[in-house]
Amino acid sequence: MFLVEKDDTVKIRRIEHKMGIKSSPTCEIQYNNTPCTLIGKRRFGLMRYSMNLMNGARLAVAAQALGIAEAAWREADRYSKERIQFGKPIRVLPAVGRLLLGMRVDLEATRALLAETASWVDLWKVYEKAVGDGGDTVDPAARARLKACATLAETMTPMVKYCSTEMGNRVCYQSMQVHGGVGYMKEFNIERLFRDVRITNIYEGTSQLQVVAAIGKLLNRSLDPLLAEWSAAEYPADMATEKATLIELTSTFQKAVDALKAQPNRDKVDYYACDLVDQAVWLVCSWLLLRDTNVLESKKSIARSYVASIAPRLRAAAGIVTESNAVPLDAIGALLA
Ligand SMILES: Cc1cc2nc3c(=O)[nH]c(=O)nc-3n(C[C@H](O)[C@H](O)[C@H](O)COP(=O)(O)OP(=O)(O)OC[C@H]3O[C@@H](n4cnc5c(N)ncnc54)[C@H](O)[C@@H]3O)c2cc1C
Repeated sequence: MFLVEKDDTVKIRRIEHKMGIKSSPTCEIQYNNTPCTLIGKRRFGLMRYSMNLMNGARLAVAAQALGIAEAAWREADRYSKERIQFGKPIRVLPAVGRLLLGMRVDLEATRALLAETASWVDLWKVYEKAVGDGGDTVDPAARARLKACATLAETMTPMVKYCSTEMGNRVCYQSMQVHGGVGYMKEFNIERLFRDVRITNIYEGTSQLQVVAAIGKLLNRSLDPLLAEWSAAEYPADMATEKATLIELTSTFQKAVDALKAQPNRDKVDYYACDLVDQAVWLVCSWLLLRDTNVLESKKSIARSYVASIAPRLRAAAGIVTESNAVPLDAIGALLA
């Protein structure tokens, strides 16, 4: 990592013409034999400093996508009250209600995951500072806690970047759908939000790269301590069905993890990794929403709705991972050769 002073050797090639986020100028910076000063330790630039920078940025982009999605949801919520079709506001039509419910529940689940991830990142930083360079004088319990926080932060950061930015794109798509034809027009905010959100699952590492970043940790059962804690916790009596479902889904997910870990074919692991990360996201979000029902009555319908929607999808994704069918990989070889 280098410090560069701007001089005539540094060229801004041009300001890019982008699809969205137009108030943020983007350019390529070209260095032509530019003198520079090394920052920090030699060989630490990429893996230590840049990865640190990038993990912070991934959390920020997850929050950016969540914010855009929240704005898109509010546009859809408002428009669905104002737009009358067949003598009633479109929001009372089950097909539109389905879109609105999906958006609302997706947003709540993602917000819970973002807050949880941010808290593990914060704890990691606190323990890092506390343990510091203390050498042998450091309490072994604090050192163990530092390691546990780091593992969870490093697992959940790519998970939330993946989950939030894909959710943001989905919610903006659904919001435009709720608007119908007018949503496609520049006069309506959703047209801009739809364009702005598109970059979030590309920059600071594409969604595919987030899956690559998360899968190693997940295959080492990095979520097990949290899943065990949540499975053992108490929840309101009227959420017992959801708790039982989540205990079952936790076991289903863990079996899928073990199946993919045992898979000797590396291409299959890479191909089916996203199905495993999806399950991890759904499961963690479900437990977090259930946990929220301990403090807020209004979270119950959100948690019920989310668990009901992800349960069959998680079982199917676990089946896909466990089977790790070779057909799509063979098809890639045959069709894309
Ligand atoms: C508006 C904007 C602002 C940006 N700002 C910055 C900035 O400030 N600083 C900066 O450094 N960069 C910046 N970028 C660059 C941005 O981070 C990259 O474009 C992004 O990370 C994707 O990298 P790439 O374009 O090289 O795509 P590629 O790496 O070429 O990827 C192309 C496709 O291949 C897939 N792919 C590639 N490798 C793998 C793999 N190992 N496994 C699975 N799939 C893979 C990707 O998912 C993608 O679908 C910016 C880009 C844009 C558009």
